[in-house]
Amino acid sequence: MNHRLDGADAPYWQSLEAGQLQLPRCASCRRWLWPAGHRCSTCGSIGMVWEERPLRATVYSWTRTWHRFALTEALDLPYVSIVAEIEDCGIRLMGRMDDPSPDDPAIGEAVVGRIDRTRVGDDAIPTIIWSRAA
Ligand SMILES: [Zn+2]
Repeated sequence: MNHRLDGADAPYWQSLEAGQLQLPRCASCRRWLWPAGHRCSTCGSIGMVWEERPLRATVYSWTRTWHRFALTEALDLPYVSIVAEIEDCGIRLMGRMDDPSPDDPAIGEAVVGRIDRTRVGDDAIPTIIWSRAA
């Protein structure tokens, strides 16, 4: 069973599959909600709407991985993972940096994303690949 198809965040995965980023917000108080849930943690409403967001963010945190983990054989080492804070909504998402540069990302640096896939074992997971904004 693919848990990306039936969880509260299923619309997130479906939007990435369709080539865009959609994130949830409360239909009542309009607060952005992440992780996705079935009830607003602020006002208690159960009405959620999913809205497209541009793939623009700033680097909130990052790490460079030098050692192979199980099922990541398709990734070239080292690779840089970031937590990207999506512009104008404050939601933070995991992703990978496209830039093979030895320069470390800077906290707060602007990045732009594209959607690709990351092969993990037999699965190919939709992934936001971030690059330094021009
Ligand atoms: Zn709410």
